[in-house]
Amino acid sequence: MSKITFLGTASAVPNKFQQNTHFIVESNDHVILVDCTGNPVVRLEQAGIDPLSISDLFLTHFHPDHVSGVPLLLMDLWLMGRKKPLSIFGLTVVINRMEQMMQLFDWETWEELYPIEFHRLPNNEKMHIMNLADLQVFASAVDHMIPTMGFRMDLSDGSLCYSSDTAPSDAVVRLAKGADILIHEATGAGIGHSSAEQAGEIGQKAGVPNLVLVHYSSLDDAEDLVTRARTCFSGDVLAAYDLMTISFPYHPLT
Ligand SMILES: [Zn+2]
Repeated sequence: MSKITFLGTASAVPNKFQQNTHFIVESNDHVILVDCTGNPVVRLEQAGIDPLSISDLFLTHFHPDHVSGVPLLLMDLWLMGRKKPLSIFGLTVVINRMEQMMQLFDWETWEELYPIEFHRLPNNEKMHIMNLADLQVFASAVDHMIPTMGFRMDLSDGSLCYSSDTAPSDAVVRLAKGADILIHEATGAGIGHSSAEQAGEIGQKAGVPNLVLVHYSSLDDAEDLVTRARTCFSGDVLAAYDLMTISFPYHPLT
């Protein structure tokens, strides 16, 4: 059974209830961490997920609230005795900057560091980035202030699409079509971001049955965001909260 665990759901400024947005997708033997902020090891412990089980790290874009935890995660996995490789996926510019960030920490001197496999992706639409019998992943460039990718995961028992940070984007509509769940940001209308209503519009255009709002301000009222998204979306809406889980196959309660 596949599962999503939200480790954080806040936009750029977190509080004691909401970390910055990052989450885990577990499916068969894949444990994928999407973005890496704060020190994810703490939330992983709270969620009961062994950090050493992470097989892949997806970095959607190089804003601090999405990548600042990378050095701590990589160091902690090393100190925990990780031996197996870690795959890191991101747009070419994101992986290049991540390597520069790690160089500031002299990571080439970390003895017997486990292998890290980089997957540098072009800034395209519907890139087929994982092609496994039980997991297909496609990524598309979305409309944020800097190069940013959203992605679609087709799991063995369901499918999800994540907008990442973006203004309303037809690329997300195309990516989300046929998915069970669209996870969409709801930071608020503005350059490179979307309101709850706009997230609803994108979900409606894509025809998905379920919309999950993330990356919203800790000052926002989650109920209000859901109500606003519903004005534009006829399916089921949730505002994700930290440590919320979604299991597949997904059957909304409402
Ligand atoms: Zn951003």
